[in-house]
Amino acid sequence: MHPFESHIRNVPDFPKAGIMFKDITPLLQERFPEVIEAMSQGIDWSKVDYVVGIESRGFILGAAMAQLKGKGFIPMRKKGKLPPPVIAETYALEYGTDTLEMIKEEKPGRVVLVDDVLATGGTLKAAAALCEKNKLHVEGMALLINLTFLNKFKEEGKPVHSVLNY
Ligand code: 5GP
Repeated sequence: MHPFESHIRNVPDFPKAGIMFKDITPLLQERFPEVIEAMSQGIDWSKVDYVVGIESRGFILGAAMAQLKGKGFIPMRKKGKLPPPVIAETYALEYGTDTLEMIKEEKPGRVVLVDDVLATGGTLKAAAALCEKNKLHVEGMALLINLTFLNKFKEEGKPVHSVLNY
């Protein structure tokens, strides 16, 4: 068992019935520097200009990774939080849709996308599409947890780096 695993809390029926939520807050509280180190491995940072963090736990992890590697940070936010000019990507949820936004880029760049958990992959897929639409080439994607039984990212050969895999 990975030493981080004992700090992850499995919460049944959150945020709704039938979902087993992995709560990473105890892990961040007890092992934050090691978590950031582990998430930053396996990425060729010489090919990366910026870290893009997905709201909101991706901000915590992504900003710390950017600091560790001496890179700039770009926030990707839920609809309506960033001032114009923004560029948006809407994606399907189980019920309804959600929209991610980022500030429109003037020039191209290369990025690593960061979030805490990869579940069905809907969020990360939309986030990657939004970056590419915004002239930001996705060099890699870094997650703390990949719930591999819910998505096919690895099989599809996507450049996903995850510390814990279930
Ligand atoms: P997906 O779009 O891959 O189904 O869901 C991923 C998004 O939902 C991520 O932004 C992640 O923060 C959140 N998420 C989904 N399941 C969990 C979970 O079990 N634990 C945590 N911490 N976040 C989750």
